[in-house]
Amino acid sequence: MTTLWGGLEAGGTKFVCAVGSGPDDIRAEARFPTTTPAETLARTIAFFREQVDQLGPLAAIGVGSFGPVDPDPASPHYGYITTTPKPGWKNTDVVGPLRAAFGVPVGFDTDVNGAVLGEARWGAARGLANAVYFTIGTGIGGGAILNGRLAHGLVHPEMGHMLLRRDPARDPYVGHCPYHGDCWEGLSAGPALEERYGVKAETFGLDHPAWDLEAHYVAQALMNVICVLSPERIILGGGVMGQAHLFPRIHREVQTLLNGYVQHAAILERISEYIVAPGLGTRSGILGAFALAEQALADA
Ligand code: ADP
Ligand code: ZN
Repeated sequence: MTTLWGGLEAGGTKFVCAVGSGPDDIRAEARFPTTTPAETLARTIAFFREQVDQLGPLAAIGVGSFGPVDPDPASPHYGYITTTPKPGWKNTDVVGPLRAAFGVPVGFDTDVNGAVLGEARWGAARGLANAVYFTIGTGIGGGAILNGRLAHGLVHPEMGHMLLRRDPARDPYVGHCPYHGDCWEGLSAGPALEERYGVKAETFGLDHPAWDLEAHYVAQALMNVICVLSPERIILGGGVMGQAHLFPRIHREVQTLLNGYVQHAAILERISEYIVAPGLGTRSGILGAFALAEQALADA
């Protein structure tokens, strides 16, 4: 019998739930808007119950969540969404109700740590022990695998909020982040593009000046990540990266900024295989939740 995982991609606007064993075997899926914690978690549990009735028991459940979250199993608030500005969701226990309902191991992490784990298990970072995944969408988030394990520390990385150099002559826009103004997310996430130019980024033409500026900021952030973590691959997903022409611009700009300092063929000769789109397309999140379930069972 196949081992079945329950996966939950808990996003700020929608929840995606699925049951299956991997990318080629997703047996059932549901998506619904993120309303109140009580209602949204009840729908999640109802979906998994229904699937268990039809397909049999889940071996484990994995949750990749919007955050900030508490991913420390030793903490009394493990499995909670913590200081989120999203109304009603501050200090919400996500893992507790799932554990109580199904009595199986529940893996829990940030959405982007889930995504990098999914990409390492089945996607563009398969077999790599050191990889980073970024989503550039409504916000910017980064997840990392280091030496084969997801990166945690005091809490979890917040790579989307790293500080970059902004040249006010080239870019007078002061940034969109409520905490830091012109941090990376403040400069480069979808809402920053919309606010800087007054229309949604989806409507910009290929020759819009936004794209070279965007590539410049993304490349600065990636240079920092390359210098700090030395990942073996960097995966860029999220709505804004739906603009595939950004990849070659980012490749060139990363090489220009690093200026030959990191002497490795992956960067000097094969950068288009080093900074890549998700191998799982838009499914990194939900398959990442399966991978978190698998890891939770292995760690139990
Ligand atoms: P979320 O981050 O909320 O999960 P997305 O990754 O789809 O969702 O990101 C949504 C943001 O990305 C919005 O700000 C939107 O304007 C922008 N976006 C979505 N699709 C595109 C596109 N094809 N080109 C440029 N920007 C896009
Ligand atoms: Zn910030």
